[in-house]
Amino acid sequence: MTTTLHLNGKRGVELLHDPLLNKGTAFGDAERDLLGLRGLLPPRVATQDQQLDRVLENYRRKENDLEKYIYLVSLQERNEALFYRLVMEHLSEMMPIIYTPTVGLACQKYGHIFRRPRGLYISKNDKGRVKGILQNWPQSDVRIIVITDGERILGLGDLGANGMGIPVGKLSLYTACAGIDPSQCLPIMLDVGTNNTTLLSDPLYLGLAEPRLRGPEYDALVAEFVSAAQQVFPKACIQFEDFGNSNAFRLLHQYRDKACTFNDDIQGTAGVTLAGLISSERLTGLPLQKQRILFLGAGEAGIGIGDLIVEALKLSGVPEKQAREQCWFFDSKSLVVKSRTDLVEHKLRFAHDHAPVGTLLEAIETLKPTALIGVSGMPQTFTESVVKAMGKLNQRPVIFALSNPTSKAECTAVQAYTWTEGRAIFASGSPFSPVNYLGTMHEPGQGNNSYIFPGVGLGVIASEARRVTDEMFYVAACKLAAMVTEQDLMVGRLYPDLKRIREVSLTIGTAVAEIAFHRGLTNMLRPADLEAHVREAMFDPHYASYV
Ligand code: NAD
Repeated sequence: MTTTLHLNGKRGVELLHDPLLNKGTAFGDAERDLLGLRGLLPPRVATQDQQLDRVLENYRRKENDLEKYIYLVSLQERNEALFYRLVMEHLSEMMPIIYTPTVGLACQKYGHIFRRPRGLYISKNDKGRVKGILQNWPQSDVRIIVITDGERILGLGDLGANGMGIPVGKLSLYTACAGIDPSQCLPIMLDVGTNNTTLLSDPLYLGLAEPRLRGPEYDALVAEFVSAAQQVFPKACIQFEDFGNSNAFRLLHQYRDKACTFNDDIQGTAGVTLAGLISSERLTGLPLQKQRILFLGAGEAGIGIGDLIVEALKLSGVPEKQAREQCWFFDSKSLVVKSRTDLVEHKLRFAHDHAPVGTLLEAIETLKPTALIGVSGMPQTFTESVVKAMGKLNQRPVIFALSNPTSKAECTAVQAYTWTEGRAIFASGSPFSPVNYLGTMHEPGQGNNSYIFPGVGLGVIASEARRVTDEMFYVAACKLAAMVTEQDLMVGRLYPDLKRIREVSLTIGTAVAEIAFHRGLTNMLRPADLEAHVREAMFDPHYASYV
């Protein structure tokens, strides 16, 4: 399918300045005559392939990743179709630029590299006029909104309004990985101030230079936004992204049954990690029911993963209490156990009866986990003794160091393989290069949320689902794991090759849409060929003819 956009009467320079419509030098002769473009472009008509060669050459000439990021952003600002063809055809190369880890660096410097705004900014001073702001957005058929308040950007903490790079990057991934039409995507920054002192004193910071808003006024602003979004864009799914964990859990709990919404940091992370665990069963021979999983970090990612594992175990017949007891958490203080009096709400459901344990190593020796999952944001916490202890307990220890960006990973791929004599089943949050350990190549899997959320979003859009449920993430995880080949597993890769991402998203999207129909979550009539219907909804970045 080509883009469904019409030209809306646009011609001449206006057309060249609309990134959703612009084709640059690829406007053909007939288009140039008809659309008032004659003379506004160099005479030689190029193909999109030729343009692609040029932008790739320019991209690769950039000397560092931040410059590459800036180049891609500027390409997206002038020609979305070309940007998406470039990114889609070189996804493994460019995903680390448009998303983690480089997007983290870009957010840290956002005010300094800023060229033009993208998306909508709603600040705490906009109370009472949020609906009007949404109505200022030029597109009317928005289907996915990614909103952040910038409090917990990747593993980098509070970046305030600089966090806008995340919704922008995430929506690019929706299009690149699952073909969500870019005209249906809306990034939003909810600027409620920042407690980051470096930003507060930076004259080039773009956001409100005030401390973060908290409490009832904050909640009222979010409530006004959700209600306005439902009125202005009734078919949109709202994805909450990179909120601090106290707000993230609360908002998910508050809105999941009232709006079409989900939190990728909690639920998307859970989906991709569960898929990795399911894939690892084929290497360990241990089904999920026999696993004991220890988490380092009990925040959005960790608790989200724990909850989805419990959901999966329950579906396989394990009683909930027993399922919860297969998951253990170690946070910044100690093992999460019942006798602790300092636990916040979201940790309580995983606080088991056990004597206090003060170190991770002790927790491993006591609990004898089969899998260790790092979601602490604390680098090098999987020390040599920790990894070796896992290797001593398990023939094939499952070790996921998921903290982002790369510099925050709990251990590196080289460390995981070296300290376990090549036996570790390793995955990370940010990409690591393949490792040659004593002549055997190991390819670390990247537990990248992009395997899950674009497909889930595609399924929700294609079925016009009113809600996003945990069952959808569970099914997405199963579908993803089922697409891992024997060849992938032979080199230790727990996820399919990124080159297959559109196929992965189509499979997940179809399964998610099926759930929406099956559970009565949509008023749409189920198309006879659901997969064809979902495929038809996918954006194709090849140019459409305007004549
Ligand atoms: P969060 O702030 O909600 O939670 C962090 C948790 O780590 C908290 O429970 C905190 O108590 C704990 N912690 C802090 N220091 C610790 C220490 N020294 N030892 C043990 N625990 C400690 O953050 P989050 O959203 O859960 O994200 C955590 C990390 O996971 C981040 O680095 C993030 O980038 C990463 N993450 C990765 C993926 C992925 O790979 N797909 C997805 C989401 C998040």
